[in-house]
Amino acid sequence: MMLTDTHCHLYYRDLKNSLPEIIQRAENLGVNRFICVGTNMANSLECQKLSEQYDQIYFSAGVHPHDSKDASDDYLDQIKNFSHYDKMVAVGEMGLDYFRNISPPEVQEQILREQMQLANELEKPVIFHNRDADEDVIKVLEEFPDVIGVAHCFSSNLEIANAFLGMGYYISFSGNLTFKNSHLPDVAKEIPLDKVLVETDSPFLSPAPFRGKPNEPGRTRFVAEKLAEIHDLTLKEIAYNTSKNTNTLFRIN
Ligand SMILES: [Zn+2]
Ligand SMILES: [Zn+2]
Repeated sequence: MMLTDTHCHLYYRDLKNSLPEIIQRAENLGVNRFICVGTNMANSLECQKLSEQYDQIYFSAGVHPHDSKDASDDYLDQIKNFSHYDKMVAVGEMGLDYFRNISPPEVQEQILREQMQLANELEKPVIFHNRDADEDVIKVLEEFPDVIGVAHCFSSNLEIANAFLGMGYYISFSGNLTFKNSHLPDVAKEIPLDKVLVETDSPFLSPAPFRGKPNEPGRTRFVAEKLAEIHDLTLKEIAYNTSKNTNTLFRIN
């Protein structure tokens, strides 16, 4: 069985300092590939370096909405340079986060739009983050009909999921699928199996029963188990489908 953690931030100290053990623990749980997602140019570089050190690690490069206000003038050129590496599978993490508004909304939107434009040029998929910004995210994605990607850590309702699916995007579930009283199992049940991905968003968002503790990529297993339960399928079937989707979207073989 093979699972891919399609979204983890392995450069955070807790993870980076014990990466060999963390990868071993993940492998013991059937999680054997990892997409290390950058949120600014400095940690995108760390992701790229990890992808050179470990066969199992792929990476993305981009600017997170929180980091938008600090984006350097040449960040688009830097992302373009990262795209020359074979293991750079997506542009991102990009998006809008109106829950925390760490960067002003208009700056977030500009930086999102610029990265969408670049992804379009590079013909790369995108990894996007959306928190309390459904309408504006949809508005920007619609401007780039040739770009596809993944709605990472999906937490909106089914109507929004359908809007993303309608534009060709994949839906990725993280540990919050396992939280008590979550509305997400009802949403996940309706997502076609050829459009779903799994992730941890490590070191954030530990799934039950580890909620509140630092998360690690091996816990993708618990997200996949929950999906299996929701769809009344075996874990193996979920692993097969989500791995296939990961390969298709990110062009990994
Ligand atoms: Zn995110
Ligand atoms: Zn993230």
